[in-house]
Amino acid sequence: MNAPLPLRGGKKLPAQLGVLGVGTRVKKALARNASLEIGPTGGVAVDRSMATADPAICACGDGVEKVSLWGGQPSTLKLASIAQFEARVAGANGFDRRRENEGTVGAWSTMVDGWVLGTAGLTESIAHTRGYNVISGTCETPDRHPAGMPGSAKMKTKLVFEAHTRELPGGQVRGVVAAGGRHIGVCPPGRIFDPPR
Ligand SMILES: Cc1cc2nc3c(=O)[nH]c(=O)nc-3n(C[C@H](O)[C@H](O)[C@H](O)COP(=O)(O)OP(=O)(O)OC[C@H]3O[C@@H](n4cnc5c(N)ncnc54)[C@H](O)[C@@H]3O)c2cc1C
Repeated sequence: MNAPLPLRGGKKLPAQLGVLGVGTRVKKALARNASLEIGPTGGVAVDRSMATADPAICACGDGVEKVSLWGGQPSTLKLASIAQFEARVAGANGFDRRRENEGTVGAWSTMVDGWVLGTAGLTESIAHTRGYNVISGTCETPDRHPAGMPGSAKMKTKLVFEAHTRELPGGQVRGVVAAGGRHIGVCPPGRIFDPPR
């Protein structure tokens, strides 16, 4: 940003970089009036550096168009982890293009009736739907070491692998209390190639 930022009251704000965090739903007219493009799911279109159609404006978060890391198709995932990653990429590219966002990975956990459920990346059924040839494995282990510690319980983990490359596009975990935070550590999703068309 080389020119001063004009405010509505006429004041001009000298700034090299502006950071704005607003909105819950994309106001398409606002984006279009700023000559920004809207993507297929209704978000502001950005490239891998998080730059919009106006290279001086980066955008990130729920209001931004996303593509899945697997296959590159439009993704409607809206998560704080994704928004935060996009913001880091946008921030790093404030002056030079230094980082890229290759695509969206969903990771979340929740608790239902005492069970902690977590997932990262693709589930087996979603992978099949997208045309990937995947195999999966499950295991059940104690969630504490040593297993005889008070409060120890069983934690079940499922990992989904691409059958040919053996890369890991995702995994899920089910446990009690302490297991929820662990799925991120045990399921680092890997990049797999586009599914056969
Ligand atoms: C109930 C719920 C549960 C969720 N749980 C999870 C979860 O477990 N894990 C997860 O990763 N994500 C979760 N999310 C999603 C996550 O909250 C969003 O993906 C994330 O907050 C998006 O960040 P953002 O910066 O794009 O938008 P926001 O965090 O929504 O920030 C937008 C900001 O703009 C402000 N604003 C709005 N309009 C105006 C205006 N006109 N002028 C000025 N300011 C304005 C808002 O007050 C807000 O502070 C959840 C969302 C909901 C609703």
